[in-house]
Amino acid sequence: MNLSEFALIDSYFKRSTIVQNSGVDLGIGDDCALLDIPEGHQLAVSTDSLVCAVHFFEDVDPYRLGYKALAVNLSDLAAMGALPKWVSLAITLPNGARVNNNPNWLSEFTRGFFALADKFDVVLVGGDTTKGPLSITVSVKGIVPRGLALQRNKAQLGDLICVSSNIGDGALGLAVKLNELTLTDPQYFVDALELTEPRVDLGILLRGLASSCIDISDGLTQDLTHILKASHCAAKIAIESIPLSKRMQEEVNIGKLSNDTAVQYALTGGDDYELLFTISENNLMLLEQRIAQQTQPMPSLSVIGRTTSQQSELIAFFKEDQAVTYSTGGWDHFKQK
Ligand code: ADP
Ligand code: MG
Repeated sequence: MNLSEFALIDSYFKRSTIVQNSGVDLGIGDDCALLDIPEGHQLAVSTDSLVCAVHFFEDVDPYRLGYKALAVNLSDLAAMGALPKWVSLAITLPNGARVNNNPNWLSEFTRGFFALADKFDVVLVGGDTTKGPLSITVSVKGIVPRGLALQRNKAQLGDLICVSSNIGDGALGLAVKLNELTLTDPQYFVDALELTEPRVDLGILLRGLASSCIDISDGLTQDLTHILKASHCAAKIAIESIPLSKRMQEEVNIGKLSNDTAVQYALTGGDDYELLFTISENNLMLLEQRIAQQTQPMPSLSVIGRTTSQQSELIAFFKEDQAVTYSTGGWDHFKQK
């Protein structure tokens, strides 16, 4: 049986659970949601679309797709130091709740979406449901104390350049899915690609300490380039400081890929959703103190380089202090092939 648009909304998107202090004065069901922004805060808004066959494979596990559709958006809020509060979801479905011949598709999709929403107390407050080729657009809204949002354009000369956790696992996951690589533990990398962890807690701790921040979605060098151009500086990067996961290093040790290839994936692959930020030495010490006081697990941090004044290359790479060359591309939907 095919549900009507409104029955679909009621069955899958409208929920009766109430999140305390959510600031939702009016949720799903009217022409607009009404949201209460606390005094002294700014609203941080970000939208990301996931299009079938461009951002995901048609046969992707719907739970993971629902999870990731929200995760990539929360990652943008994290990169601004915002606390996620609300989300809207515009979904275009080819045939009601049944996608790819799977009658459980939409319930699995929303299960993944709400698993992450509930983890961060984010409330789905509205959206749009239409028929057509499968596509998902999520818009998240968060709050940040006025003036404390982390921007791309405030990196200072001589700042340290840091990244959270490991870089490159998601890119290897995509390479596995595209049959570009065969690895000993492919599922680990596919999980890194599909079940990414938005660094919301870290973003909030960076407020007032990091001079600039971005989340790595399109590749470390491309996203670093955004900070450097916006902040009018250049960077020196120490290749050996780029944090590769233990699993990735094991794949290198076993000979499944060379160290250089691993580094190249880490530099340009994307799909990391780790935070890349600039910070003064003194503020990094303060950040480490803040992190040490947290009760929840926090990602590790690595210093991978420094901002410098303009040099011939926007990003200069070094390996044990010797200048080396790596390509610095990244993901670009409109790049000429
Ligand atoms: P309108 O026609 O006034 O734009 P709709 O009929 O599109 O309203 O939607 C009815 C209500 O359901 C609105 O409050 C809208 O925000 C909400 N809604 C529609 N689709 C979704 C969805 N996929 N997720 C969450 N809320 C939705
Ligand atoms: Mg509408």
